[in-house]
Amino acid sequence: MPPSPVMPTIDLSAPGIGHGYLRLPHSSNESAWGVIQIPLTVVANGSGPTALLTGANHGDEYEGPIALHKLASRLRPERIQGRVIIIPAMNYPAFRAGSRCSPIDQGNMNRIFPGRPDGSVTEKIADFFQRYLLPEVDYVLDIHAGGKTLEFLPFAAAHILPDSAQQARCEAAMRAFAAPYQVLLLEMDAMGMYDTAAEMVGKVFVSTELGGGGSASCSTVGIAERGIHNFLIHAGILDDTPKGSDSITLHMPDTRCYSISEQHGLLEMCVGLGGPVTKGQVLARIYDYTHTGVVPTEYSAELDGILAGRHFPGLIHNGDCIAVVAVPT
Ligand code: CA
Repeated sequence: MPPSPVMPTIDLSAPGIGHGYLRLPHSSNESAWGVIQIPLTVVANGSGPTALLTGANHGDEYEGPIALHKLASRLRPERIQGRVIIIPAMNYPAFRAGSRCSPIDQGNMNRIFPGRPDGSVTEKIADFFQRYLLPEVDYVLDIHAGGKTLEFLPFAAAHILPDSAQQARCEAAMRAFAAPYQVLLLEMDAMGMYDTAAEMVGKVFVSTELGGGGSASCSTVGIAERGIHNFLIHAGILDDTPKGSDSITLHMPDTRCYSISEQHGLLEMCVGLGGPVTKGQVLARIYDYTHTGVVPTEYSAELDGILAGRHFPGLIHNGDCIAVVAVPT
């Protein structure tokens, strides 16, 4: 495998605090000898574990970038034992464009791992994480939200893994994050995910879904900041008191949890996020807005639970996820 074209502009193993970039050559119409510079902060002190913290794996999710920019400005080396690598916008071209995927190659960072050193821009970034960053770290936190098209109850997530001891370590870190909700997920299509890449090399991995709609709220940014603080304490890097309280555990047992639209139209949600749902209850109506006087199509819950996620924009297409029902335990 050829070496990565991505070059950090700072020494990732130096003690103290360094602000720099992951620099990737990218020749374009706008910049012939240009580079993509992905902002990066490394805070290190003494010996101890390394945590890798990322946001904007999908470029239209903002709790991670906000909380991580704040952390990069605030975290002092003398407060930690070990190392914290902070990358607020993992898919930086997508983040700069305010879009889920990269405008350069349409790359979806969370479907492209392990990437390629000689591939597209998104593949090159993924390859750098796969071969250069993940081997150096112990704890990985990737902060997601719903993006422009979804909104979620704020939850932290860990995966059901073949190695039960590793799953237990990931679950413990997820509980430590202390989001209002937590979910243990069995990923239906785990290939290409950053999550899977980190888990396959034995790392403690936690991801989140905090809010959505293509922005961030005071509340969801607060959950991200508190969760990062707690995650670093759990990793043994930060010596402080954890904040927050117990999470409500949600289960998404099977495909009955997901309602998928078979229409294009105007969306009326009939249940609020977090609201109780009983089997058969109408979750949403979709109106054919090209005519008046047409009966809307109703979508009903297939199981009892609460509304954990919803389509965000006012219009919806055939194939879009309308609603996610989860079962509290
Ligand atoms: Ca996401």
